[in-house]
Amino acid sequence: MRRNADLIFTMSKPGRRCADLPPMDVPETTLSDRFQRKEALPLPEIAEVDLLRHYMELSRRANGVDNLFYPLGSCTMKYNPRINEDLAALPGFTDIHPLQPEHTVKGALEVLHLLETYLCEVTGMDKITLQPAAGAHGEWTGLNLIKAYHAHNQDFARTKILVPDSAHGTNPASAAMAGFDIVSVPSNPDGSVDTNALRELADEQTAGLMLTNPNTLGLFEKNIVELAEIVHEAGGLLYYDGANFNAIMGLVRPGDMGFDIIHLNLHKTFSTPHGGGGPGSGPVGCKEFLAAFLPAPVVTEKDGDIVFDDDRPESIGKVKAFYGNFLVCVKALSYILNLGGDGLKNASEMAVLNANYMMEKLKSMYTLPYAGPCMHEFVLSAEQLKKETTVSALDVAKGLLDYGIHPPTIYFPLIVHEALMIEPTETESKETLDEAIAALSEIYQTAKENPAFLHEAPISTVIRRVDEVGAARNPVLKYDHR
Ligand SMILES: *Cc1c(COP(=O)(O)O)cnc(C)c1O
Repeated sequence: MRRNADLIFTMSKPGRRCADLPPMDVPETTLSDRFQRKEALPLPEIAEVDLLRHYMELSRRANGVDNLFYPLGSCTMKYNPRINEDLAALPGFTDIHPLQPEHTVKGALEVLHLLETYLCEVTGMDKITLQPAAGAHGEWTGLNLIKAYHAHNQDFARTKILVPDSAHGTNPASAAMAGFDIVSVPSNPDGSVDTNALRELADEQTAGLMLTNPNTLGLFEKNIVELAEIVHEAGGLLYYDGANFNAIMGLVRPGDMGFDIIHLNLHKTFSTPHGGGGPGSGPVGCKEFLAAFLPAPVVTEKDGDIVFDDDRPESIGKVKAFYGNFLVCVKALSYILNLGGDGLKNASEMAVLNANYMMEKLKSMYTLPYAGPCMHEFVLSAEQLKKETTVSALDVAKGLLDYGIHPPTIYFPLIVHEALMIEPTETESKETLDEAIAALSEIYQTAKENPAFLHEAPISTVIRRVDEVGAARNPVLKYDHR
């Protein structure tokens, strides 16, 4: 049986159909020559059952949280509860138009307002914008708040953003996009930010510090209050990259740590789909003294009514059409209401427990360059393994595909050589974690006994090992069926 799906075009047989058009109930006319195609449209002709099998087969080739364990560090690939989708699909939400008069979308305003209220509560911030479409977009929005704040104070010397060397690449990239110069802050041998170096670097040119906590090594910054004080005393603001918020929901709040601005990734922490699964959302929260600069409009309560407030003379301006990705907000609100405060806290506790469980089981094989306990994720290194066996982090990642497991994040953070960054999330069972531990143990053994096998991995996937550089530089995204 043919199982490796051909293209739908090569499966085409003249005359096959999977649709019957209804009889025409208007008079037939002939289009003028100008509008006529010169040749027939090359549509595939195919029977309904073959069409269905074709797309089912293709869907099986796609890897996602719905079909396999996906411990992609830093990305929080948790299960997305289907009730979120049901609620976001309600016609009252899907059938509204962003240009509808405000008094006809009061329910949608309430959704936005409620979500903002909960996000303020969980982060310790005073005001939130739901406009940004992703984490990186949130960073850029937050950096513009910092810029607006210093400009408001006529403090134009503050052109530098401090970014720890463990930061996600989007941090320096967003700071550069917002027009700042980037100053890298070194890490201590234990993976935390070097407070002495920070004290030296923070000065009257410092616009702010961008910090991820827990950091990209999965470690909670022990000196967080001191770090915040150093930057504030130098006159800078504190930006919290909340992409790792899944570790701390209901346990600790960035607002209480001294941070002025935060972004969240609804598509990570709050269970809305990532990437191809749907658009993202990167809300930005801030303290009251920055609220005037937030993108317009904001949703506010006025005389007991919830309204859009467009009268924002100090706003940095719009960062996204209308009010961001509204249906993503509906899904995140559904998640929050379903779990409740205790449920969110429990989710974070389980995420941290799962990560520590895996870390403990694996650290005797792959090296743990920065000692735990970890938060919701941990970073191992295959550097030693590579020295001994020539099997690299890339080979280990490819090997996992043959076990039906999505690889972890590799070669990030940059301060760990041959990094394997594993984030199991709270939604995985102990059995799944044990299977992944067994797979990584077997790969470790294979590396010692038959490294050549892992250089060839994966062997069971439809596409074997690809030339990743070539695929990125010269992508061929189109099939020419003629
Ligand atoms: C994912 C992530 C980002 C960027 O978020 P996007 O939604 O992918 O733009 C920023 N910082 C950290 C630490 C992240 O993990």
